Parts: sequence; C-alpha cells; structure tokens
Amino acid sequence: MKKRIVVLGAAESGVGAAILAKKKDFDVFVSDMSEIKPNYKQMLEEYGLKWEEGQHTEALILNADEIIKSPGIPDTAPIIRKIKEAGIPIISEIEFAGRYTHAKMICITGSNGKTTTTSLIYHIFKEAGYNVGLAGNIGRSLALQIAEGKTYDYYVIELSSFQLDNMYKFRANIAVLLNITPDHLDRYNNDMQNYTDAKMRILQNQTEEDAFVYWADDPIIQRELKKYGIRAQKCPFSILQKKGMIGYIADGKYVIERPTPFNMEQESLSLTGKHNMYNSLAAGIAAHLSGIKDDSLRKSLSDFEGVEHRLEKVARVRGVEYINDSKATNVDACWYALESMKTPTILIIGGKDKGNDYSPIKELVKKKCTGLVYLGADNTKLHQNFDELGIPVADTHNMKECVEACAKMAKPGDTVLLSPCCASFDLFKNMEDRGDQFKELVRNL
Ligand code: ADP
Repeated sequence: MKKRIVVLGAAESGVGAAILAKKKDFDVFVSDMSEIKPNYKQMLEEYGLKWEEGQHTEALILNADEIIKSPGIPDTAPIIRKIKEAGIPIISEIEFAGRYTHAKMICITGSNGKTTTTSLIYHIFKEAGYNVGLAGNIGRSLALQIAEGKTYDYYVIELSSFQLDNMYKFRANIAVLLNITPDHLDRYNNDMQNYTDAKMRILQNQTEEDAFVYWADDPIIQRELKKYGIRAQKCPFSILQKKGMIGYIADGKYVIERPTPFNMEQESLSLTGKHNMYNSLAAGIAAHLSGIKDDSLRKSLSDFEGVEHRLEKVARVRGVEYINDSKATNVDACWYALESMKTPTILIIGGKDKGNDYSPIKELVKKKCTGLVYLGADNTKLHQNFDELGIPVADTHNMKECVEACAKMAKPGDTVLLSPCCASFDLFKNMEDRGDQFKELVRNL
C-alpha cells in the first residue's frame, strides 16, 4: 500500500510539498483550515491532488504515515495536538524536499538579516556563473522546484525557526547563523530558550566536511555554542578584527582570512549600515568557501541592489529622505535601522505587537529621533513606552494619516524612517502591503 502523506496548509510550501509527494507516488491529502488562494487551488487541481479548505477532517488526517506542516501553523493548533497524541511524525517542507536532491545546501537563519543575506549569497553565486537555486522563505518553494525537475548544484535557502522546528535529518553543507534576538516569542510559549533551540537546529547533522558561519559577537550564540559538539568547520565573523575570526572589518577594509586571503574596501560594499556589514561578511564567507573567484566576489558585493522593504530609499521630498524598512517587524531590526541613521529622524513605529520589550531602543530613539509617529490599530503601548521621552508624537491609524503627519513634522535634512518593530496584520495585509502603501503615498507628497 502507498504511504500516506497529509500536508497541512496549502500555500507556497504546502502546495509544493504536495506536488512533490504526488510525483514521488505517495497517497497525498492537503488540508487547510482557511480558504486556499485561487492560484494554489489551481495548482492542486492541475496535479490531481485531493484537498479540503475551511476545516481539518480528522478521519482523513489522523490516518497519515507522515505529516508535512506549513511553518505558519502553531503547535498549539488542536489538530497538531491530536497528531502528536497519535504519534504521527511531523516534518517541514524543507525536510521533505531535502530527501530528493543532492544539491549542496547553503542555509541561512537568524532573527534578522535572513532575506538580505540569502539574496546576496544567491546574487554572488549567480553572477559567478554557478548553477544555483533560491528557496525557503523566498520565492518558489524548494519542494516545487525539485518536483519540477530542477537540478541545481547549489541551493541557497532561507530558513525560519518555524521551518527548523520540524527538521530532523536535513543537513546544511554551509550553515549561516546571523544572530539570535527575541522574536516570535508568542509561538514559543514566551520562552526565549525554546526559540533559541529552534535556531540552533541549523547545526544538526553537519559533518566535518561542512561549514558553520556565525556572528561571533552575539552573546546568545556564544553561550549556546558551548552546549554543542560542533563537527563542522567553524567560521566566525565579527565587525572587529579579533583572534580566530575568519572575517572582519579592519582599517576600512572588508577582510576574509581563510581559506585564502581576500579583501576589499569597506566603502565599495553596496549594502550600508552596521547590520549589513554582518550580512555582507556572512555572505562573502559562504561564497569564498564555495570557491567563488575574488574578482567576481568583489564585484557582486559592490553591485548588489538590496532587497525591497529593507532600509529601502523611497524618495527625497522637499529635502526630507523617506526610507521604507517595513520588514523591521521586531525591536532588534529597528535598533539597527536607527543605528544607521545619520540625520535627525522621524520614526514610524507600531502595528501588531508580538509581546515587544521596547527598552533596547529607547536610548537610540532619544538620541536620533525628533519625532515619533505611532501607526497601529491600538497605540496604547507605544504611548506608555515612548511619550515619557518628551519627543513630539503623532497618533495615526492608517498610512495616509501617518505619511501626512510625517510630512508635517519633518524639516529639510531629516529622515523619515518606517521601521515599525511590529507585524503589520492589524492594519495591512502584510508587511509588503504596508511598505507599498508607504511608498505610494510618499511619492505623491
Ligand atoms: P529577515 O529575513 O531575517 O526578517 P531581512 O533581511 O528581511 O531579515 O531584514 C529585516 C530587517 O532587519 C531589516 O529591515 C533590517 O532593518 C534589519 N536587519 C537586517 N540585517 C540585520 C542584522 N544582521 N542584524 C540586525 N538587524 C538586521
């Protein structure tokens, strides 16, 4: 009898996994508690997959041999509890897809900087002429690409903690761990250690032939590393030249020491801001380890165009610079954005709060901000945290009001920064919608 695979969640990763499972001749069923988007429904139909939406029919799910769970479904969902009680293994789409490819896997995780670093690594590999695919939280799912018969030599994969949660045998040939700071704690029982453990899973199954690239100055990573017997080649990087670092910035130079020495002017790096030095170091090390030629690496690190919604320059209007950092959905991301500001800043902050502690950014807000524009369905917590700083504030509940308030507050030479520390779902479809609305309104000022 065919093995039965049930896929929970029918968006990019779930539909990809279902198609791959069907191609590999499993008995496949797809179930989504919400409505499935038309394009995904069409794909399910095209491949003759059985599916349901708006419900989870237990009789069709609890008879599975294996469950592939979308990263968006929390462990607290009733159906997941029942699956666990029934002892059915739950894996992620990446774990499943990883079984059907021999490509070298370059995997990137961290609380912030994943998309930027993943995109930069992909850019470097592609420009160097490597046969490389991009997957994970970006673009098409890994499973779909494998199902469609793509045979890349390398995959660059962005991994969230939710994907790592359900990965067991998957092995990263190059693992990149950027940082670990509080995020998504609502999904981890408000326990930072649970979230940290998920991130550290990127190390599991690595062998002596693999490499582990990580930010050496992160206190949590440092602490955690002591707990693990790491077999992979360790490749720590830091913004400072210190003993043991494989990559760092020194005297205005971007340096990678091993396997062969590489350097370039820090000024030539296309990405700016301290956080992007880390991202550029991580990406450069991963590329260097993979044998990318120096000239090619130098060129790609300097001509990378960046990623939309990440410290993206939108326009200069009447002497005011507007920057869209809508992707800054946690406090740490906003910290780095503020840190990189060189002019007085009007900060747009707010949205769906994931249990944020704002204390880490208060000093920087005081130092850099000449105005605060709160943008959320409920701004109470922002008032409680920031009003005491004595900076002018505006209370807004949609992007139009917000941009108008910013334009009123800002003086020529100022920067308006949308770096909201929060998720967007209270007022917007998603963070892209929030960033797009911001850009559109700014361009019409
Ligand atoms: P992720 O995919 O991990 O969410 P992104 O590359 O999309 O990360 O960047 C999200 C936000 O985090 C950016 O808007 C930027 O302000 C901030 N950021 C980017 N890289 C880093 C880093 N290495 N450390 C801290 N913050 C960062």
